[in-house]
Amino acid sequence: MTKALSNPHLPFGDQRTAPWYGKSILTVKQFNQDDLKYIFEVAHEMREMVERVGTFDLLKGKILVNLFYEPSTRTASSFTAAMERLGGSVIPINEVKYSSVAKGESLPDTVRSLECYSDVIVLRHPEIGASALAAQYARKPIINAGDGIGEHPTQALLDLFTILEEKGNVDGLTITMVGDLKYGRTVHSLSRLLSLYDVKLNFVSPEILRLPEEIISELESKGIPIQEYALLDQALSESDVLYVTRIQKERFEDPRDYENVKGTYIINSQTLASAREDLVLMHPLPRVGEISMDLDDDPRAAYFRQMEYGMYVRMALLAMVLGKA
Ligand code: ASP
Repeated sequence: MTKALSNPHLPFGDQRTAPWYGKSILTVKQFNQDDLKYIFEVAHEMREMVERVGTFDLLKGKILVNLFYEPSTRTASSFTAAMERLGGSVIPINEVKYSSVAKGESLPDTVRSLECYSDVIVLRHPEIGASALAAQYARKPIINAGDGIGEHPTQALLDLFTILEEKGNVDGLTITMVGDLKYGRTVHSLSRLLSLYDVKLNFVSPEILRLPEEIISELESKGIPIQEYALLDQALSESDVLYVTRIQKERFEDPRDYENVKGTYIINSQTLASAREDLVLMHPLPRVGEISMDLDDDPRAAYFRQMEYGMYVRMALLAMVLGKA
């Protein structure tokens, strides 16, 4: 246990010495390996505490705003669960059409208003860079919960935590990401985060959904071995982790393009016949047919465990930015 957790009622002065106190989380580019080690240590402690006592008062009296301009099941509810497990409370704004946004209010104004009532704002928005823009105006920490096709840093943190929990280490692994690598923000964040380690990355997608050139260059400049494929079976047998993603229908400009690529990759027990026995099968969810339900009982299917890990990671992040870890 860290001092912060064993003594949840830190004197006010101590909060300000916590390294992440008051910081926004906007992109995975903010983190180095030491930061990740620290976040995951705190996440482990959160898990222990949840298993032992369920809910505790580390963030009692703190208020989070969940400001969602795009749909969400897991991210919004796991931030809510995380905050409530820590004794704090949540203002949910997930239907911006019922808020002043529908009257034309700008993002900076919405954020500057909501921070008057809260201590931290979790923001999901359809535009790249929206969280960074919000953070320029906000006095309170902003946590990027997805900025269009940009990044989804807290998802990448929980994805990496999942890999560590399931495999015990990251260095030396071959990780294959399949599906919509162009619009999938979780892939953008996760591949960047993995580039801090000694990994091999395979990217499997239809031609029109390849990983953006900018990210490929970033990975190459860090010396990460990369291979791109159109067919999954070319990469599957050597993979330690298979990270499956949904084709992001809502992001396509031309619906015919979506029709041409939907259902390109469907993972079922037959597909996994050529995969390793100790493969870790992940998906940020929601799945819309990419992973057949008959794999759900396969011990390699980690996607529901991945969701649970997400709550511990988000508890750790909230405690950190609110000065309690
Ligand atoms: N839930 C993830 C996201 O918000 C993945 C997805 O929607 O496909 O990016």
